[in-house]
Amino acid sequence: MAIWNLGSINADMVYTMPHLPAAGETLAARHLDRFLGGKGANMSVAAVRAGSQVHHIGAAGPDGAWAVERLKRYGVGIRDINEVDTPTGHAIIAVEPKGENQIILFPGANRALTWDQLDQALSRASAGDILVMQNETNMQAEAACAGRDRGLRVCYAAAPFNADAVQAVLPFLDFLILNEVEAGQLKEASGKSPDELGVKDVIITLGAKGARHINGETGVILDVSALPVTPVDTTGAGDTFTGYVLSGLDRGLPLAEAMSLATKAAALMVTRHGTADVIPELKEVQAACF
Ligand code: ATP
Repeated sequence: MAIWNLGSINADMVYTMPHLPAAGETLAARHLDRFLGGKGANMSVAAVRAGSQVHHIGAAGPDGAWAVERLKRYGVGIRDINEVDTPTGHAIIAVEPKGENQIILFPGANRALTWDQLDQALSRASAGDILVMQNETNMQAEAACAGRDRGLRVCYAAAPFNADAVQAVLPFLDFLILNEVEAGQLKEASGKSPDELGVKDVIITLGAKGARHINGETGVILDVSALPVTPVDTTGAGDTFTGYVLSGLDRGLPLAEAMSLATKAAALMVTRHGTADVIPELKEVQAACF
């Protein structure tokens, strides 16, 4: 089995600033770090580190060769990542000494995917494979519909949250993963609670409280507690959780076991600074004692 991830690829450019620039101010940064980011790239790396074969369906500009090369080095399948004329998606992140930040997001190439590209990629998928999407690329509803037609298990991570985007894919979903805030926003927009959405499996992640699975057919709830760690940076915890859960299902684990492994991986992740580059390997997760 395999995981097909229609996902974003971003360069996270982190500028260390003496203070956040005011309107009209020109200010020199003290330091620049460049990381591989984007929810899509993070989930691909997480699922590979959890032990799955992952094909990333995405796009990068001529400035993004390093990001694609890094995904390849991490073991992600890159055959379905197109090079396009638009600049690679990026986040310009200014951070001041107390940790407050300002972020400019440019979706760029992440919004330049084409139907042909998607169709070609999915033509190589097998029924029962997993297709996952987040809300950082174009072609989400087209992918969800095509995935369902081909017998794939279609999963959506509803972040960054947009009610219209979730509602466009809902009819095609087997699996929906969202955090507590996003679940509240979806309830407000749709008037439905998670077990009324018509989706077989819904997982709501609850930060330091853990995660809840709701069986959309029976209404049965499964709660998994988070592990007690001292968090230093929660960025990427949700993406790590999702990548690990999907990999667990892809590798045939029962849902409770997949969630428990994902909870451990996400707990390790919040003890680390960084995103894709520091997502833990399966053997570290299995060996971790909490
Ligand atoms: P992010 O956007 O920061 O990546 P998210 O909002 O999508 O995360 P969360 O619900 O915050 O998702 O976290 C995902 C999972 O990570 C949780 O279900 C939990 O297992 C783990 N986690 C998050 N915060 C903590 C914490 N403080 N301690 C232990 N585990 C945590």
